Amino acid sequence: MVDPLSEAEKNNATFASLGLSEPLVKAATEQLYTRPYPIQRDAIPPILRGKDILGIAKTGSGKTASFVLPILELFNRTKRVNGRYASVLVLVPTRELAGQVADVFGLLGEHLFPKVKTVAVYGGVSINPQMIAVHGADIIVATPGRLLDLLAQRALRLSDVEILVLDEADKMLELGFADEMNRLVDLLPQKRQTILFAATLGDAIQDINAALLRTPVKIEVVEEETNIELIEQLAYKVETERKGPLLRYLIKTEVMKQVLVFVSSTRTADNLVVKLTKNGIQAAAIHGQKGQNVRMKVLQNFKAGKLRVMVATDLLARGIDIQLLPYVINFDLPRSPKDYIHRIGRTGRAEAAGKAISLITPDDEHHFQIIQKKMGKRVEQIDTIDLDLAGY
Ligand code: AMP
Repeated sequence: MVDPLSEAEKNNATFASLGLSEPLVKAATEQLYTRPYPIQRDAIPPILRGKDILGIAKTGSGKTASFVLPILELFNRTKRVNGRYASVLVLVPTRELAGQVADVFGLLGEHLFPKVKTVAVYGGVSINPQMIAVHGADIIVATPGRLLDLLAQRALRLSDVEILVLDEADKMLELGFADEMNRLVDLLPQKRQTILFAATLGDAIQDINAALLRTPVKIEVVEEETNIELIEQLAYKVETERKGPLLRYLIKTEVMKQVLVFVSSTRTADNLVVKLTKNGIQAAAIHGQKGQNVRMKVLQNFKAGKLRVMVATDLLARGIDIQLLPYVINFDLPRSPKDYIHRIGRTGRAEAAGKAISLITPDDEHHFQIIQKKMGKRVEQIDTIDLDLAGY
């Protein structure tokens, strides 16, 4: 089939040009989605046309919004909400992902009228509140086991499902949900739209594809190769106890307007923020122990340029996409060379050069050698022994 969008149209795509209407464009803008990610550009139009999708994409690619936005758009067009049973079912492998995906439906659906009701159901918590919550839900985001329990309790039926999304399908299989998935699929209407996302296309996913999808549109997101050459890398040799003052010195003397600082633990992140703030440098942390709302607020402020220093642990940094970030500082070195490249890659995006600085303690030296070797590039190292850090 000929792709209805030409190359030029694709490159200039906006959420509106992909077929989303105003309430959704507005919500995406409020989430600081300035323009569609490639996966969104490729997935939104065919989903709106009712096509099945086989998407190969990892977390961080923007895959969630790539199905959430068009599904909400379809609700917006038909205005068919609050039926007896849900018309959209999203199956996910974990409780965390269920919550996250449901949150994205909520956030991106904020301006829709009538409201689309999304409910997340997952195991590990009492089933009773969920039995009540699923009433009148338009979209159910569920882990397979709990959904089967709810069905056994007759809390809901799947007879009205028009769209099935299997998110992180490979992980669902890995976690041993194959049986549950099959049982659930048997309860769904034959005539439906099926959207499948997996991180990689293995045999098991091919099998599901053959069994469940009808001439799907295949979308594959190739991870962007970081162009190391665009990034100016620098390392400062420093004693552990002088890392904090050196960080503040660098931020102040280099007059860094925006910097992303990576640390290895939640505790270090919180400590750094306290110290930076005390020294008059505006900073906030994002890490796993901050609530989703706090994390989003911090990220939003940082993206909007209202926050000078964001301190992050690796886990949380995966999904961060900030265009034209001028500085990244590795306050702590990451464990793997791959993570190092991933971190510093945040400054070298969109053909704009950035600067990546690493603080190297005597204990880190050997590890930093390995990182440089794997990267195939030597990084200039500056000694800070004679640097006067008093007052920082
Ligand atoms: P996901 O791959 O769905 O887990 O999304 C990764 C991250 O990218 C999330 O933090 C989203 O909020 C963010 N995101 C998704 N789409 C966009 C976009 N078009 N522009 C900027 N950020 C986005």
